[in-house]
Amino acid sequence: MAELQGKGINPGLAVIIVGDDPASRVYVNNKKKACAEIGIYSEEHALPAETTEAELISLIHTLNGRKEISGILCQLPLPKHICEENVLLAIDPKKDVDAFHPVNVGKIMIGDYDFLPCTPAGVMELIKESGIDPAGKECVVVGRSNIVGKPQAMLLLHAHGTVTICHSRTKNLSEVTRRADILVAAVGKANFITSDMVKDGAVVIDVGMNRNSEGKLCGDVDFENVKDKCAAITPVPGGVGPMTIAMLMKNTVRAALL
Ligand code: NDP
Repeated sequence: MAELQGKGINPGLAVIIVGDDPASRVYVNNKKKACAEIGIYSEEHALPAETTEAELISLIHTLNGRKEISGILCQLPLPKHICEENVLLAIDPKKDVDAFHPVNVGKIMIGDYDFLPCTPAGVMELIKESGIDPAGKECVVVGRSNIVGKPQAMLLLHAHGTVTICHSRTKNLSEVTRRADILVAAVGKANFITSDMVKDGAVVIDVGMNRNSEGKLCGDVDFENVKDKCAAITPVPGGVGPMTIAMLMKNTVRAALL
């Protein structure tokens, strides 16, 4: 960071949180902490739940125009009276460090992008750093959200995987997941992926962040029963979550260079 600052490049992240959702509060705090740890300037805009869409968009326009802010992140979900799409559209695509703006989504589709969405990018980094090459492998992504599942599938495709996307209407899900050399679970249900759904020697990436019946943080994969049959598996907590934050830091630095 000092090297960048020496060249007059000063990344700055504005994090917006609307309302008092406890999970969002934890995520925002973790993001601010990561900025502080690596010396990125950050500022938080904590707005009350009653904030109107117009007020929120007006704040985003102000942040779009501020030089010292290179990245803008609006923590989701937003209160129901605010249209998420309108809010994401208001963020300058060059400051869109979550890569949720349609311009950035389109660029990812083409494979020529400024930013990658943080969670799928973090998954790809984990795969790469573990020496795993998706090229030619059966990659199965369970979940098709705009934030995780769809971009994850696209990134695996760019890495030359043979990709299948599953969702709530997929028939014979276990048969599909058992084909996977690389299985990414992004469902949002604790212990959803059980041992019988995983092929021996598969690589299993658990994106899920859920609370189990005891209120403990857990993923989508039944870790204890799956871990012995796969070649590699990510834990929750401590797997994809920290990578998501690392990718946010990377995007914020990148935004300062655009
Ligand atoms: P969404 O709720 O938006 O999407 C869940 C997906 O799972 C949907 O596509 C849904 O299908 C699919 N699904 C639900 N039930 C089934 C089923 N029975 N069989 C097959 N597919 C099913 O969640 P997100 O993508 O936003 O998040 C997924 C998980 O990842 C959550 O636990 C979230 O907390 C976590 N997360 C973690 C992050 C991290 O940094 N580690 C970052 C972002 C999310 P359909 O489309 O048909 O409804």
